[in-house]
This record gives sequence, C-alpha cells and structure tokens, in this order.
Amino acid sequence: MSHAAPQAIHLADYTPPNWLVSSVHLTFRLDPTGTRVLSRIEFAPNPDASSRDFALDGENMKLISARIDGAEVTPDVGAHGLTCDVPDGAFTWEAEVEINPASNTALEGLYMSSGMYCTQCEAEGFRKITYYPDRPDVMSVFTVRIEGDEPVMLSNGNPGNSGDGFAEWHDPWPKPAYLFALVAGRLVNHPGSFTTMSGREVDLNIWVRPGDEGKCAFGMQALKDSMRWDEEVYGREYDLDLFNIVAVDDFNMGAMENKGLNIFNSSCVLASPETSTDANFERIEAIIAHEYFHNWTGNRITCRDWFQLCLKEGLTVFRDAQFTSDMRSAPVKRIEDVIVLRARQFREDNGPLAHPVRPHSFVEINNFYTATVYEKGAELIGMLKTLVGDEAWSKALTLYFQRHDGQACTIEDWLKVFEDVTGRDLAQFKRWYEDAGTPRLSVTDEFKDGTYTLNFKQETPPTPGQDSKPPRVIPIAVGLLGQNGDEVVETRILEMNKAEQNFEFTGLSAHPIPSILRGFSAPVILMRETNDAERAFLLAHDTDPFNKWEAGRALARAGLLEMISEGANPDAAYLEAVRTMATDDSLDPAFRALTLGLPSQDDLAQAIHDAGSTPDPQAIWDALEALKDARAEALEDTANALYSQHQVGETYRPDAEQSGARALANAALAMITRRDGGAAAQAQYDSADNMTQQLAALGCLLQAGKGDTAVQAFYEQWQDDRLVIDKWFGLQIAHAAPDQTVAVTERLTQHPDFTMKNPNRFRATLGALAGSPAGFHHASGEGYRLLADWLIKLDPLNPQTTARMCSAFETWRRYDDARQTLIKKQLRRIADQPKLSRDTTEMVGRILQS
Ligand code: ZN
Repeated sequence: MSHAAPQAIHLADYTPPNWLVSSVHLTFRLDPTGTRVLSRIEFAPNPDASSRDFALDGENMKLISARIDGAEVTPDVGAHGLTCDVPDGAFTWEAEVEINPASNTALEGLYMSSGMYCTQCEAEGFRKITYYPDRPDVMSVFTVRIEGDEPVMLSNGNPGNSGDGFAEWHDPWPKPAYLFALVAGRLVNHPGSFTTMSGREVDLNIWVRPGDEGKCAFGMQALKDSMRWDEEVYGREYDLDLFNIVAVDDFNMGAMENKGLNIFNSSCVLASPETSTDANFERIEAIIAHEYFHNWTGNRITCRDWFQLCLKEGLTVFRDAQFTSDMRSAPVKRIEDVIVLRARQFREDNGPLAHPVRPHSFVEINNFYTATVYEKGAELIGMLKTLVGDEAWSKALTLYFQRHDGQACTIEDWLKVFEDVTGRDLAQFKRWYEDAGTPRLSVTDEFKDGTYTLNFKQETPPTPGQDSKPPRVIPIAVGLLGQNGDEVVETRILEMNKAEQNFEFTGLSAHPIPSILRGFSAPVILMRETNDAERAFLLAHDTDPFNKWEAGRALARAGLLEMISEGANPDAAYLEAVRTMATDDSLDPAFRALTLGLPSQDDLAQAIHDAGSTPDPQAIWDALEALKDARAEALEDTANALYSQHQVGETYRPDAEQSGARALANAALAMITRRDGGAAAQAQYDSADNMTQQLAALGCLLQAGKGDTAVQAFYEQWQDDRLVIDKWFGLQIAHAAPDQTVAVTERLTQHPDFTMKNPNRFRATLGALAGSPAGFHHASGEGYRLLADWLIKLDPLNPQTTARMCSAFETWRRYDDARQTLIKKQLRRIADQPKLSRDTTEMVGRILQS
C-alpha cells in the first residue's frame, strides 16, 4: 500500500472526556461556498476524568478566530482538530470557522443537495461543521441561529424567533453532536398533527422539493402510526412540540434520526402508487418507524462510544420489525427478515469482514454500519426477549428507560437491566455481542421407550482475530409433530448452553417429526441430516409458518445443489411441494408468493463452499434457470389460475392484503412468461396503473429478451423522476444474461443520466452489477474490473459509499484460483491508489488479508 496503515481505535482504550459541555450556541451564516459557523460553547471539567488537556475535533475547515472567556487565543491547529491551553475551571469557548458546503461531495457535515443545505453528522460529521468534542458521551443543549435568505431554515428542537433572513431553534434535550441537523432551502411541507397520550399537540411536517408534495401522504400516516405504536407498546411519548422530516436526494444511507429533524434519503420517504412498488411502501413505513423509534432508543438514551452502536441500532431494528409485524403480517415479515439476514449478515459473518456485533476495534466507524451491527444486533435482542420471556422483557424495558434516560450507555448497562429484573446471569449471553461468526448447530435424534431425545452440538468457525469460541447460549424453539401431522408437543424453548447437549421429551407413543428452530429463534446455521420426505411432511403440516416456508426452501436448495453438482434433473418432490403451497387457499397470498421464491445465487455459492467445493457462478445460474423453466412447465395451469385469481380490482392500496395478492400474481406472471414468451407481461405492462405492476412486467419482458420497446417507453415516461429512473438503471442490469451484465452496466454508466455524485444512482447501477453474481463473476474478470474502475473514481468524492460497496468482493475466497487472482488484482489496484481514503483503505485491507 502506498501509505502507512491508518490507526485503529480500541474499545479497551476508552477514557471519559476531559471536558463536558453544558450548552452550545451556534450561528450559521449560510453561503454555498463560504458558510461561517460561529460557536459559543460552555465547557466544564469532567469530575470523572484524570486529565484537563483540551482538544477539539475539526476537519476541512478554516479557523477564523477563537476566544476563551472573551480573550483571543491561538490554538494549535492540525488536520484533525486543535489543542489549546485552557483555564483550570469552567470556561466559555468561542470560535468562528468557514466551511464550503458546495464542495462537500462526501455528504458528511454540511453539504448541498439539489440546491438545498443539509447535514449528516452521524457518526463523525459534526467535526466538519465546527471544532467540537465530537463523541457521543458529550451531551449538551443546543441553541441555533441560521442566517440566510432561504425560505425555509430548520434545525433541531422547537422553533424560536424568526424573521427576515434568520431563524432560531432551541432543543431542550441534551444530545450528542451526531444528532445535530440543519436544513435550509426552497422546500414545501406536507403538514400533519398528532395528539400524544398525555394530550399534547405535536405539529408534524414532511419537507420536500416543490413538485414532490404529492408523495408525502403515506409517510405522514406511517409517522402517526409509529408515534401511536410506541405509546401503546412501549409507553414512549414524543417530547417536542414539532417533528420534522426532510427528504434529500443525495444521501449516503437510508435516513437519519436527528432530534426532531429526521433527514431521509428521498427514496426512503417519497411514495406514490404510480412511482413506488409495494416493497418500497413497506420499506418506507419501516424506515420512518425506525427513525422515529430512535427518539427513545438512540436519542434520549444514546451510546457512550461508537463501539456501542448496536445498543441503539440492534434495539431499534428490533422495534421497527415488531411494528411492521403488527401493521402487516408477522410471519411474512419474519421470513423476509431471515432472507435478508442470511443474504447479507451470514455472508459478512462467514467472510473476511466478519466482526462482532460489538466490535473490539475499528479504523473508520462508517465501515461498521453493517448487517452484523444492525440485523444480527436485532436478532440478539430477539433472543434475549425469548430467553427472559415477554413479561420480564416489558419490565426490563421500562427500567431501561427509567434508569438511563439522558445518558450515554453501554451494552453492559443494557444487560445489567435484564440481570436486575430477572436475577439471571447474562455473562454467557454476552458472548453473542463479543464473538463474531455464525454458529453451526447440528442435531441428531433418537426415540426409545416413549422418550424422544434431541442431541445438539454447536460450533462457531474462526473469524478474523478470533480463533476459538466458547459455546453460547442458544434459544432453540422446538415443536413435535405426530406421524399423522398433528402437533404432539407445542413450541417450547430449549436453552442450549453447552457445546453438546441432549433434550428429552417423554410420554410419546411414536417417533415424532421435529420442527426445530421455529421462527428462526437464533441466528445460526442448522445442520440436520434429513430427507425430502421429512421436508415435504413439515411443509404440509408444520404449524409454524417460518418452518413451513423453510421446509420448502430446504427442498429447493437440496434439489438445486444436486442439479449443480451432479447434473440432476429438477426435483419432482420440490415441484409437487411448491404447487401444494402455492395453491393452498387457506394460506396468505403473501406467504404463498414467498414459497415461490428460490435460494439466491449467492446463497447457493455459500452452500457449495461450505460443503468443501468451489462454486461455479455460471453453473449456479444455469441450474436456477433450468429449475425455473421446469417449474413453469410443471405449474403452467397453476400459474395461469393464480394469475387470474389474484388480480386486484379495487383502487390501489399499499397494504399487506393487496400487496400480497400482487406479489403472488407477479410470481405467477414470471412463470407464465417462461411459457408464453412475454405476451401476458406485455399486456400487464401496457395496462399497469401502478409501479408494482409496471416494474414486475418490465422485469419479465427483460427476462424474456423482449424488453427493448418497454425499456424505451419506460424511460420516456419517467425521465423526470429520479427515483423511478434509479429502478430503470438497476432493472436492466439485474435482468441481463450473465454474459451481457458487464456490457449493459458499462453502457448505462455512459448514459447522460448516470452520475456518480448521487449515491442512489451509483448504487442502482454498480450495486446491480455487484448483485448479479453470474455476471459480476464472469470468468473474463471484466465485472471485477468495471466495479474497481468506478470505485476508484468515486473514492475521492465519496469515501463512505465507496467503502461500503467494496463488500462486493468479500466472498472472493469461495471462488477458483483464476477468479481469486483476478479479484486480488483489482483489490490491489484499488489499494494502490494514491490518497485512497481511510474508509476504503480499511475495507480493502480487511478483505485482502485473513
Ligand atoms: Zn438506526
């Protein structure tokens, strides 16, 4: 590498801040290229600190002047901050700095998006706005004055005075700097209001660019639903007079929970039937809930340091999943979440980027906003709830809010609450936070003299920096079915806490069929020698919807693996089973649509790798195609019937019921297209009045090689809608044949509407390449080359998004020598770039080593 490795920060080195902040006054004099930020910060010595040395974080800014208690000072200024001699006791710090939002393409700190000023401060962006102790355990009350000629000028908290050319804001709740936000520009609002459980009126607004007003109603309703739900389920009331949401076009992530002023990637809040799919609506509802729920789990109770990120993210993902389960279908939500967990978190946990839910060290914290911290973090919360039970869970949460309100906390604080409520020792449970890797849970069974015994063994493979792992406590939800399909033992939670353990069920008259890991009660890989007959039995009889779905998925996977390794024919047992489930009218159509899903290419590659072989991406693609063809043939009548039975006649609603019907109809349409060459898809495309129908039809047409006209028409129809055009970019790549994926991607990167400055557009395009394994891993290596080209171009502009997208390469060790060599060459090429960002340097370094 061309420069010294950046320094890692370790959890074990935590020390409390030397100075605390009692209040902050900020004045912004807005100017696109030279915004002045004036700060007045009251500092007081921290009685818990051992030093009075004074250092402030600060990057990419010009210090104009600084004063302590009114007297000019000359601090020692470096690239990452400043130090200064200060008095022994409390003092007032004042500074004026100049920053340049127009040149800020990293989208951290204060930047411009579509002509509007906006901020992103989590995790360490506030230090690009002014000099400050930018760490979450420094909490303070902020008062903000914005000066400028923008018609709308917003910050956190409640509005104060405003007038010609200025607006003032005061946030009474002490907060860390990462929750600071400012937005200013030509914005219009969609208003609403909410009466809290104690009868307070809260004004709500969704702020958007003129023209997007018509896409706010759904988000507004989702916000109200979230506010009510948090009152009803967790007793949490909102705590300001105003709650603002702003949509911005250029954003590195989904959304941000700034106190009273949530900022959203426009793709995660704007919704209309014509431009958003059912899946978009569901995701928007969940993200609005997620950010709102952070008000208590993240803002009122925040994190002591960034190693504790899962404290707020794991818990808040868990809460938003509960919300979605309550608003829609709990089994469908659970299955969707497990699909994502396996696709993203298991992939991460089984590769070079594996890290604990609470990491021990990092170089760049932005690289740890991962599936492990978020999604596995949420699984840990779910396991904890299962282990202590619903009643103790409620008590513990009430105590958590009571005990820690206003504090910056750790995972130790969180677990102590549960220990105090239950009297239980959670030391072994804590390993889930500290040890990376996905446990393998193997199981055998035996039946003798009326007693049925399940024998479990757990083992977690080594991960970078962690060679051996002690056994964890694993809640295993198990039910038993009799040979006739009746449930003979209802779900019970087996608490495994040793490396190997037996569990007995007595008083049974015959050998039962076990349903293990119901509801996916722990994030483990279950390994069980079983057969098609048992899977088909569970699929027909299991009362647990997750395991019913899982049985079908296991059948599909087993059949596909045989097709890939032995050239076997599509599995008749699978085809029969999937017909049974798809046509079972007693089941929710959304669930039936999920049963028509197949394991992903990446899933199969991992399974082949786990079994000690080398996956061939083209062979995996071919097998999936062959199975889909065979299924379309075997289920031809079924598909036609499902398609006509599940047409939605009523006015479009994005709710669970209608979207379930559309999901099933569209799954049927995909099968029909393999038989009719695209006639039905073209008809649906031509008559579609909502994006779900239009996009599904377009996907089918592309799949059938009949997409050219529709692709053109789609562009002409939607060229002025960025979010829809993002879909247009992505879909063409996702549906290209593997030997065309790179060419299509390359062509689209030349399109006038392609820009790497907009993360959504970049991800829609290059992310679609990375997400198409057979094309990305094409033996020519051109997929690797193309992605590396663009990551190299993006890094100087936007390190955060570049670094995230490097994870496309994280699976490289699964593949053959030739591919490994090609990937390594591209990773080294990225690593060798002069001035590569710290973010990308860390990611590429971690992917290459181990
Ligand atoms: Zn979050």
